[in-house]
Amino acid sequence: MRYFELEELANLESGQWSGSYRAEHRWCLPSILCPRCGARGGMQAYPSVDLSELPENESLTDIWPQSAEEYARRAALVRPFATAGIVLEPGNSLGPLVGTARGHFGPVTALPSWQVLVREDARDLLLETGLQGIIPVRAELRTRRTKELPLYELEARPLAKLHPDCIDRVPTCPDCGDNSFSLPPKRWLLRESVPPGLDLFGVEETTRIVVSERFIDTMNRLGPSDVFYREITVG
Ligand SMILES: [Zn+2]
Repeated sequence: MRYFELEELANLESGQWSGSYRAEHRWCLPSILCPRCGARGGMQAYPSVDLSELPENESLTDIWPQSAEEYARRAALVRPFATAGIVLEPGNSLGPLVGTARGHFGPVTALPSWQVLVREDARDLLLETGLQGIIPVRAELRTRRTKELPLYELEARPLAKLHPDCIDRVPTCPDCGDNSFSLPPKRWLLRESVPPGLDLFGVEETTRIVVSERFIDTMNRLGPSDVFYREITVG
């Protein structure tokens, strides 16, 4: 199986579709404040984590940095609503995208590249075709058009890892344990970390979303999308 990262088109003007949206996920966990590093939080989103039944959910809309204790308190509130396999971290976005949209959308939208939305017919085709790892959550986007199909965000759980040989970590922070890295321009996936059979997944400690060749072939059956697919090798 070949794999590809989703990217925005280098030249947005060259796109075929007029669709755009402004939206944020409904809830979030706060970032944490490290005395050495400052505010720290990831950008991972879990739209499938639905907190609408959580009475204290109003305290989960502010990403402003908190102490480790306050972060832990809020994370404990969220945990029962996160399915097995989701590892909550500071700064996670939770729940559906909520906002407004306008224009026409192609089968796949990745604008920004770490947010993948598919049109309803594209979601149906992915599921009917039996692709694996497709977790669609309807985006709550208000639009003036009534004929436009709903959009679904695909949850990309960070399951794969970049190969250690292509990353350069900062020294571990003695206070918060951070030892992150900047995204290397030349990168490849660690073979044993690639989840077998899955057609969409995220890459740990990055905002990258990877899809299989089968995902691209399936989506292309619905016509062009304004997405650039960059191959990422496995080694
Ligand atoms: Zn730190």
